[in-house]
Amino acid sequence: MIKFLDLQKITKKYETEIKEALMRVVDSGHYLFGEELKNFEIEYALYCGTRNCVGVGNGLDALRLIFRAYIEMGFMNQGDEIIAPANTYIASILSITDNQLKPVLVEPDISTYNIDSDRIEMAITARTKAILIVHLYGQNAYQDKIANLCKKYNLKLIEDNAQAQGAFFKGKRTGSLGDSAGNSFYPGKNLGAFGDAGAVTTNDDELAKMIRILSNYGSSGKYINMYQGMNSRLDEIQAAILRVKLKYLDADNYRRREIAQFYCKNIKNPFITMPFAGHQTLVLNSAAHVWHLFVIRCSERDKLQDFLLNNGVQTLIHYPIPPHKQAAYAEYNGMTFPVTEAIHKEVLSLPISQVMVDEEVKRVVDTVNNWKE
Ligand SMILES: *Cc1c(COP(=O)(O)O)cnc(C)c1O
Repeated sequence: MIKFLDLQKITKKYETEIKEALMRVVDSGHYLFGEELKNFEIEYALYCGTRNCVGVGNGLDALRLIFRAYIEMGFMNQGDEIIAPANTYIASILSITDNQLKPVLVEPDISTYNIDSDRIEMAITARTKAILIVHLYGQNAYQDKIANLCKKYNLKLIEDNAQAQGAFFKGKRTGSLGDSAGNSFYPGKNLGAFGDAGAVTTNDDELAKMIRILSNYGSSGKYINMYQGMNSRLDEIQAAILRVKLKYLDADNYRRREIAQFYCKNIKNPFITMPFAGHQTLVLNSAAHVWHLFVIRCSERDKLQDFLLNNGVQTLIHYPIPPHKQAAYAEYNGMTFPVTEAIHKEVLSLPISQVMVDEEVKRVVDTVNNWKE
């Protein structure tokens, strides 16, 4: 069986260094706010090319804290509108509604699956305060056109960079393209910890400072509480592991690109729609895509998934139900987003990771090519 994602094998790759890093933490006696976090924040900020990185508990918290900070800073108020893609993981939307802000959903582009920049302007109202772009599946969603809309209407541009650590747009990394970005280091992400972890990256020093305060009980100094904050921290163990894996992130993403390129070249099946190949290049800083997921489409998706499983290839669906059709968002259930709904019915994610060997990649290709409707 070719596993969708073999985390055990990924860990094995860095085992010696990770064990050293863990022992360093065990011996240090510092388990929160120590040297590992301080150094990871410096190293990840340098990697992304931002002035600041603030470690937090997870990716959802990173995004929640960004909105909360903008509210405390007076840039937005409860009830204001945030433009977001209709086609995203639920966490993007939760970060908005958790702050009593209102998500205004915009359809994606059917070829990239990212927010359709042509449909954003008509969704802007007097209450719009930000555009949340999601670099879905590892592909950059930033466009100069979106940044120009933000300038024109005085909106914040926020990136959900949970799926695209290491991706580029014109030589700049995702996570550094907007006013602020939420990063997730959930174990399955391109840069994954051994549990929950996340970070906010931003060039805005005031925002970074506010997020440090809000993520630590709202305290500006020990036992001095300026805000009703929360507890969301990136601990020393996770930071130490992330420091090891960050060193190999570009090499790991390169391997993902190789596999994606092989899939794109060799999967030839008239019943299957391949992902947008506009960024098919192995050159690092011009390529936008880091292939967190390799997502194909098929009108008989469920049958294809069964066929692949029966032939030894495990796949997953990202995602089966869009946020506006979830019970948690009952007030949105009556809305229709045809592009989003079509995507959710047809998508299927093939295995892709830095530890897949050529033989496995070839077997995936052959199995997919053998499928007939
Ligand atoms: C994983 C993910 C998140 C949330 O990250 P967690 O660390 O799991 O909280 C947010 N947005 C997107 C698009 C994600 O894929």
